[in-house]
Amino acid sequence: STREPVTVIGLGPMGQAMVRVLLGRGHRVTVWNRTAARADAVVAEGAVRAGTPAEALAASELVLLSLTDYQAMYDILGAAEGALGGRVVVNLSSDTPQRTRDAAGWLAERGARLLVGGIMVPAELVGSDQAYVFYSGPKAVFDAHEETLRPIGRPDHRGEDPALAQLYYQAQLDIFLTSLSAYLHATALLRAAGVEATTFLPYATETFDTMSYYLGDAAREIEAGTYPGDLASVTMMGATADHIVGASAAAGIDLDLPRAVRSHYARAIAAGHGKDSWTSLFEVISRRDD
Ligand code: NDP
Repeated sequence: STREPVTVIGLGPMGQAMVRVLLGRGHRVTVWNRTAARADAVVAEGAVRAGTPAEALAASELVLLSLTDYQAMYDILGAAEGALGGRVVVNLSSDTPQRTRDAAGWLAERGARLLVGGIMVPAELVGSDQAYVFYSGPKAVFDAHEETLRPIGRPDHRGEDPALAQLYYQAQLDIFLTSLSAYLHATALLRAAGVEATTFLPYATETFDTMSYYLGDAAREIEAGTYPGDLASVTMMGATADHIVGASAAAGIDLDLPRAVRSHYARAIAAGHGKDSWTSLFEVISRRDD
């Protein structure tokens, strides 16, 4: 085929899903995994097993990494440094922004270029219409390989700073993880009163479905730095946040989450935002004074 060969290192659920998508598109896919048996399934489906990381690097210019963190990259590629020259390493593993920037430098010193990727769906949705992937790193390198990367998930290049894809990924998971905990907390509050989770479900669903309605105005106010408190003030909403702490205490459930929210309101009020909109909480959330 005319499709470029691809190497995939790291065959957890995500790596295996990517291999299958690429095989389905007719790429020659070379794989390597620390635990060799984890490659068996995709090798049976047509992937080529490399005996060593160096062999895996030699097989393709484009090398995808799907690992637990960036340390795993050093553990694997550190033993095959001589084979890194000329490679484009697309690291789709999670880590901190600084470790991501450090990795770009480490690879550059060895003649390789780094594209950072953050996949926004679980393994079963890799390659589906819902899948999208944040990328950052050299735009020209991204452009050269975008067509190969596209079937994994809609590629979205966010900028040249390697950390950007990692930051977008974490920002999205910041919303996701916090929201999941909020849902579980609210469900626990009602269950302590004997209301089943399935009874609460349609109400929780409605709240989640309408949340995005508030974001457009919020983003504009954050950029303008003005937070007009028209219909709902920080003082009013802060009182509600305090009532949720009280209700949680009475129900004997977790207090950490509602206390964190109440603290945002209390600090915004202390900073003079009592009559402003809830969006003024951005002022206390976006900087730490310690
Ligand atoms: P797994 O934890 O299942 O797989 C991790 C891979 O990393 C395995 O191949 C493992 O090898 C390898 N690995 C870990 N540490 C080392 C090491 N020190 N040396 C060599 N190899 C190592 O991960 P997933 O497939 O679930 O996820 C991969 C990445 O994708 C993660 O960064 C995750 O945050 C991200 N992600 C995951 C999603 C998901 O739903 N699973 C969704 C979106 C992103 P071995 O098999 O030998 O243990």
